Amino acid sequence: MQNQNRQSFEPGAIVFREGEPGNCAYIIERGQVELSALVNGQSLKLTVLGTGELLGEMALIDDQVRSATATVLETTELLIVLRTYVAEKLQLADPLLSMLLKVVLGRFREMRGRMVKVAAGLLKDDEVAVEAIETPSYQTEVETISRRLQLENKLAQALEREEFELHYHPIVDLQRRRIGGREALIRWRHPTLGLVPPMEFIGLAEETDLIKPIGDWIFQEACTAAQRFNAICDDKGAPVQMSVNLSRRQFEDSRLVERVLEIVNESGATAEWFKVEITESLLMSNPDLARHILDLFKSQGFTIAIDDFGTGYSSFSYLHRFSIDTLKIERSFISAMLDNTKVLAIVKSLISLSSNMDMNVVAEGVETRADEEKLREISCHYGQGYYYSKPLPQAEFEALLHRGLESSE
Ligand code: C2E
Ligand code: CA
Repeated sequence: MQNQNRQSFEPGAIVFREGEPGNCAYIIERGQVELSALVNGQSLKLTVLGTGELLGEMALIDDQVRSATATVLETTELLIVLRTYVAEKLQLADPLLSMLLKVVLGRFREMRGRMVKVAAGLLKDDEVAVEAIETPSYQTEVETISRRLQLENKLAQALEREEFELHYHPIVDLQRRRIGGREALIRWRHPTLGLVPPMEFIGLAEETDLIKPIGDWIFQEACTAAQRFNAICDDKGAPVQMSVNLSRRQFEDSRLVERVLEIVNESGATAEWFKVEITESLLMSNPDLARHILDLFKSQGFTIAIDDFGTGYSSFSYLHRFSIDTLKIERSFISAMLDNTKVLAIVKSLISLSSNMDMNVVAEGVETRADEEKLREISCHYGQGYYYSKPLPQAEFEALLHRGLESSE
């Protein structure tokens, strides 16, 4: 164990006092320590701890003040454990775990505070319960945890219960001002929580490996929808492509391309109808694997888009090594470009560099007419954003395709 020291105490010594800040806990290697708390000006003995026991452990989780005074009863050796040591471990752990620890600790502190008052005769037993209900100090954390647990519980059944839906977001050809693409975005219609956005469950699906069957379902559903959408657009030339997002875990599956191709062929669709979107950070975190998978996709006829460009390493010197067709500029650049000339300069450079590298650009997060006008002026190829539409369920997206873009404003 790193960051630890030993300290010796003589009988009567105070290790820490109630109300003091604390940044460490102690393991009793030898000896005895009494914990006491002040109630109504009187010192109330809480417990006596002996060899092998831990004291001051709450300081390892958060930086609240000590809730008791620790007094040494006999010659005692203590091993010091610093909060920084635990913080390092917590940072690597699932955020749910550290949140859970804080909630449990908060609850424990509240309960102990009340028990001390009961013991001192300041509060009656039935008043403890009433106080507990009136104290919502960890409400937000508790809600987050229970929502996540509820989701985790139900995620495994969601596929068989057909609770997933794909919504479709138009990608607009800015120069011709018509729908030039669409992105499939998954949603989960949860029986009690309503429509759950992907950010709340894709990570969970990855952790539990459910992302594989969910990913297969996404392609199956996207193939069926693409056939319907293409039929609507047939008279206007080549089929408009459907973008499908791939997450890290899917990407690491060695059979990914094979399986996607199987699904596409079986459904009567063709690879040319689809563009796979992977994030810039995924691309850069494992460039060799990324190049291998992207080459496989390309060789089968799929096209490739890099999602959320600008949030990762943004290295053009790297990009030329991959077979990329489209660069999607992250939303934060588009929302800032009208107020910040430097951001605008970045967007302009991305567009011209992309064009020189035979890639087209999609500006994400077009929210206003002014955004659109500026993007058209600086020769951006495509725009996607709430200005045109929110992502729509299949039937509504079909209606949008029939109506066309002009009437969607
Ligand atoms: P993304 O691929 O960057 O998708 C774009 C997200 O930005 C979508 O959120 C979309 O609704 C939102 N958006 C589009 N235009 C605007 C705008 O003008 N303003 C604002 N404020 N937001 C806009 P959504 O659908 O919640 O998706 C979030 C992320 O979840 C996606 O980010 C993608 O990384 C992931 N995701 C969504 N569907 C799938 C899927 O089928 N498979 C996988 N693996 N990941 C998915
Ligand atoms: Ca995307």
